[in-house]
Amino acid sequence: MVINVSTVVSGVGLVGREQNGQSTSVGRRIGDLDRSLLLQCRTSQVTQLAEAAGRTGGGLVITAERGNLRGCLDRARHLLEVDHHRAPLLLDAARYAGNGRLAAAAPFDQRWIQYQRELGLPVLTDSGYLAPDDMAGLVGILERAARLGDAIALLPMHPAWLADRYARQTLLRYVTALGVPVAIVLEEPVGPFEPVAAVRGLLELLGCGVPVLVLRSDLPGLGALCSGATAVAIGTEPGLRRLDPRRPAGYLPPSRVARPSALIRQCLSYQPLAVIEATMRRHPDNGMWHCDCPTCAGRDLNWLVGRPEAERDGVVLRHCVDVLLDLRTELTGPSVQLNQWSWRARCAAAASRRREVGWDRLPALDHWQEATIPPTSPRTAVPTSRRSGGGTRFSRAAPPRSAA
Ligand SMILES: [Zn+2]
Repeated sequence: MVINVSTVVSGVGLVGREQNGQSTSVGRRIGDLDRSLLLQCRTSQVTQLAEAAGRTGGGLVITAERGNLRGCLDRARHLLEVDHHRAPLLLDAARYAGNGRLAAAAPFDQRWIQYQRELGLPVLTDSGYLAPDDMAGLVGILERAARLGDAIALLPMHPAWLADRYARQTLLRYVTALGVPVAIVLEEPVGPFEPVAAVRGLLELLGCGVPVLVLRSDLPGLGALCSGATAVAIGTEPGLRRLDPRRPAGYLPPSRVARPSALIRQCLSYQPLAVIEATMRRHPDNGMWHCDCPTCAGRDLNWLVGRPEAERDGVVLRHCVDVLLDLRTELTGPSVQLNQWSWRARCAAAASRRREVGWDRLPALDHWQEATIPPTSPRTAVPTSRRSGGGTRFSRAAPPRSAA
């Protein structure tokens, strides 16, 4: 594929330089993210999460529900002005999700952009879905975000953009040429697909010198956080820990009864409380039921299972946030390579613990192990240009590169 990036982005580079002052101020705000572990929630869950999300290293991504952007913005305003929330906060319009999703070509809603500015938040574009091979969609989102001068380009995309070599090269060329920070949301793949290649592609993107956020993630998102992501958002419920593909007309999703789940630290996963209780009975001496998080304070997880229903959800949530922030602290040391090795070791240990109690393997953790080179390997796994935190280069006016 032949791409002339210099032709496409030449005007945008000029805009970036002309708006340098504005970009710098927002650069500070994105810098404030500082490898935050954000909780991605629905608008209606903010009250429940506000306290937990305000802790050091934490933050919030409020996701608009069923296209209700006004409700999302109003809740954010209340959180900031009445509750005096000071931790990182992003707003996700989620116009890329569901069967009624918009395509990447859809223009941004200028009111959405402007309201985020008025609230003093980093501006996250309300992008539509970026399908595989939608080159015009990719360029359109990045160009429009660059012209805004102070935005993070949201790229909700098919993982082929990372897994496929040519698509990945294209993505990297445009992202580095435009220098706009990006926030990716990866769709669940359908059909033939090489997931390890997607992890390797993500590592390349994280090392390209432009701030990268990963939103709507599950626990494996921690791998991105310790590999140089500016911030990672992990969903508070299964539907916010992934992006489902569009379903065919007439498709009826299997009816799922909501099962409260708790995070099992050593397994790096959420498990339904009923499963935890049954497994604890079978393996009482396994050693992974003890929890030293501030909420559990050294008790074993039976105490979560046994909470009265009225208070259980709140206690389980606090336990999960405690464990997530604890993992974030442990995985974001000064050396990206050491962080990655630590993450790799944790993935291996989690697989082993799951095997001991008869739980299924988590393929995503295996993919991270495979994609991350172990300490003994002569090859290097860490891109040399990787940055460890927030974006001082956010406002740079990158010279466009010519693509081969
Ligand atoms: Zn706990």
